[in-house]
Amino acid sequence: MITAEQIATAGVVGAGGAGFPTHVKLSGKADTVVINAAECEPLLHKDKELIVRYPDRIAAGLQIAMELTGAKNGVVGIKKKYTHAIDILQKALTSSLSVCPLDDAYPSGDEFVLVYETLRRVIPPGGIPLAVGAVVMNVETVFNVANAAEGIPVTEKYVSVAGEVEHPYSVKVPIGAPLYSLLPSSLFPLPSSLTCVVGGAMMGYIETDLTKPVTKTTGGIIVLPKDHFIVQQKSWDWQKTQRVGRASCDQCSFCTELCPRNLLGHPIEPHRAMRSLGFNASKQSDVPGTAFCCECNLCSYYSCPEGLNPKDVCCENKRRILAEKKRWENPPFRPERAERIMPNRKTPTHRLIQRIGLAKYLNKAPLIDKQIGVSEVVIPLKQHIGAACVPVVKQGDKVSVGQPIAVRPVSDGKPALGADIHASVSGTVIEISDTLIRTVAES
Ligand code: SF4
Ligand code: SF4
Repeated sequence: MITAEQIATAGVVGAGGAGFPTHVKLSGKADTVVINAAECEPLLHKDKELIVRYPDRIAAGLQIAMELTGAKNGVVGIKKKYTHAIDILQKALTSSLSVCPLDDAYPSGDEFVLVYETLRRVIPPGGIPLAVGAVVMNVETVFNVANAAEGIPVTEKYVSVAGEVEHPYSVKVPIGAPLYSLLPSSLFPLPSSLTCVVGGAMMGYIETDLTKPVTKTTGGIIVLPKDHFIVQQKSWDWQKTQRVGRASCDQCSFCTELCPRNLLGHPIEPHRAMRSLGFNASKQSDVPGTAFCCECNLCSYYSCPEGLNPKDVCCENKRRILAEKKRWENPPFRPERAERIMPNRKTPTHRLIQRIGLAKYLNKAPLIDKQIGVSEVVIPLKQHIGAACVPVVKQGDKVSVGQPIAVRPVSDGKPALGADIHASVSGTVIEISDTLIRTVAES
């Protein structure tokens, strides 16, 4: 049986979020492991595609996660509309593993929402799934755990490419490949009228430098016109958010009524955060509920009839509260709201897609076997939560795929929080800095 340390050595981190080291997650004790296959970001499909292509590997990774955490149950939360993927998955699962079909709603992949939908348990504000006996893992993360058990480290990433793409697709790419290498040749160089949102339309960010590398957490690239609603909304700076919010928020509270964390009974009220702008009180600590915002952007892109930006107001407060090391002790928590209100207030994905201007794009991204040819890769030394890795190769060294090139620094005799990093192509190391290792691929 693979150990948690071997999972760290194989470089496995959360592939669907901020890159939390998986071995740390699997060192906790839980009664249930939940696989997050909700993939609720519009137009992204690579997790479902991985399930269809590698169901046994997903089941094997889940089984390993259960053994390491001592969990007796394993559940895969996947949208019920994906009947084909569910059929395939069910054939691969053993009796202690099950599928929980989810409504097609956003943000069903938020782990607080997912744990509620799959287990009917509500994680307290500021808590983690372990607080209610659960560990949540992304599909590609369990896939990587199964690979690690066979001695295969993380060197590749699956990414969906969609939006202004004639035939959207999901594809496998070496980590460190430039983002532009994922685009179809017809979109490179990218026309000046277009831009790319990396990560997903709702929670992703605009990236104008497409030479930046694919990392262990890159999940999608959405190509959009620069004048698209999503691009415009993501371009707001804090001054505009404050100025327009102060002038235009009519306190209708729709943002709060549909906020998924509020529906779970957390004390987060984005309309109150907006009100704090009007009273010039955003520095007061009486809007601390914003610390519990999951940054799903539902309030900013969907709920607000005025097109305002309550999410960024929440985030600004959240950052300030974190910087001031303030913590709301014993926040009010009404988990019974979830049962009572959540079912009637979910945001259907098809309505969200309409509202944010994505309905014209094909909402499919089949996994294709395209070979992404890269002449060099740039591998960041920090692709995870924790400390940056330390190179163990030198400039001029020849490396081969899967070879460790950077490892976790050791402090007090123990490896720091993080996961090791491996060569994603065979070739020659030509540059090492504090932040990256650049390797030219052999031809
Ligand atoms: S982004 Fe908005 S809707 Fe989402 S959790 Fe935060 S406040 Fe709630
Ligand atoms: S939905 Fe918009 S207008 Fe209404 S309270 Fe929230 S931010 Fe203000």
